[in-house]
Amino acid sequence: MTDAFLPYGRQSIDEADIRAVVEALKGSHLTQGPSVGRFEQKLASLLDAPHVSAVSSGTAALHLAYAALGLGAGDEIITSPITFLATANAARHLGAEVSFGDVDDCGNLDPDSVEPLISPRTRGIVAVHFAGLPADMQRLRAIAERHGLWLVEDAAHALGARIGVTPVGACALSDATTFSFHPVKHITTAEGGAVSTRRVELKQKIDRLREHGIERRPAPDSEGHYGYVMQELGWNYRLSDLGAALGISQLDKLPAWLRRREQIAQRYRAGFAGLDPLLLRCTPLPQGRHSAHHLFPVLIDFARLGLTRGAVMSALKQRGIGTQVHYIPVCDQPYYSKRKSSDCPNARRFYSSELSLPMYSTLTDADVERVLAGVSEVIERRTTAVVYAKGP
Ligand SMILES: *Cc1c(COP(=O)(O)O)cnc(C)c1O
Repeated sequence: MTDAFLPYGRQSIDEADIRAVVEALKGSHLTQGPSVGRFEQKLASLLDAPHVSAVSSGTAALHLAYAALGLGAGDEIITSPITFLATANAARHLGAEVSFGDVDDCGNLDPDSVEPLISPRTRGIVAVHFAGLPADMQRLRAIAERHGLWLVEDAAHALGARIGVTPVGACALSDATTFSFHPVKHITTAEGGAVSTRRVELKQKIDRLREHGIERRPAPDSEGHYGYVMQELGWNYRLSDLGAALGISQLDKLPAWLRRREQIAQRYRAGFAGLDPLLLRCTPLPQGRHSAHHLFPVLIDFARLGLTRGAVMSALKQRGIGTQVHYIPVCDQPYYSKRKSSDCPNARRFYSSELSLPMYSTLTDADVERVLAGVSEVIERRTTAVVYAKGP
């Protein structure tokens, strides 16, 4: 008898999702059609945001948000090094430079690291809600206001997270928030993303830029055709109607999925509380910030444990437990380190101790206990040598 392998994250698709996509396939619009508007409205009400634009990916969402905020060649943004590459790459595609701050114990951008990086070229700050836990938005907002900068939230990990009672995405403290609906995230549209904002002119600009820069005319012109005008250069960043139909169906399940993720996180925390905190600890829980638990990161002192991260990962893999590392600091990727050196000791330390454990809503209680037992065994080195033997 073998238990199924538990990856660190996975999507969940049910019969209702399949029916929704089949219905959309039978419709007249396969690309941006009626489901896209409905998906945007449903997201807007969930996020408590007046404006949402659905787009083709989380990367496109970042690119459009930065472009709509006017980011361009010669400008700079400041962001966290503990993120997926797209947060920085989207700025580089507009010709802007990226300065990397450092992170706090949660893996979120440390406001103290931001202010020293501000230069006359700095235009904006991009917070990344690592693992689903909101960054310190109040302090980042204060810095942005003091220096006349915009503030964007990369909430690819944080659909369903809250600061107090306010959903991340409401943009109470930011100019725009971006989401990803890649299959590993909370809900999926296969590929997809969204931008939310309270600023109507940003919403209008994002909607134009996602469609080549086109503005559609509501009435026919004097030549009798329904024309369109293009005043600026955009992209094709449309979400398909199939993806939007899937997204609408997935959103129905989000509240239950978030509750399940919260239960799993609490069980992990309670279980790991019995381990030596010098060997393994969970990230802190800042007051008033509620994680959406996209990932469950633990921080392990591999040197003290006397095992490499690779050895721990393969020992867990032998127990059917998948893990992943989030993230190599983006500033240390050759593309970025060649451009400029960054001073982010906390991010490097965070990266060198981070391990993301299985976290998704379809994990059963038995799966969670298996992860707890497997991790505890490896951390306490209660096992036979064969488990630690190097693979081929
Ligand atoms: C997934 C992710 C993105 C990019 O989203 P895609 O939909 O894959 O383009 C951006 N930022 C972060 C933090 C992510 O995790």
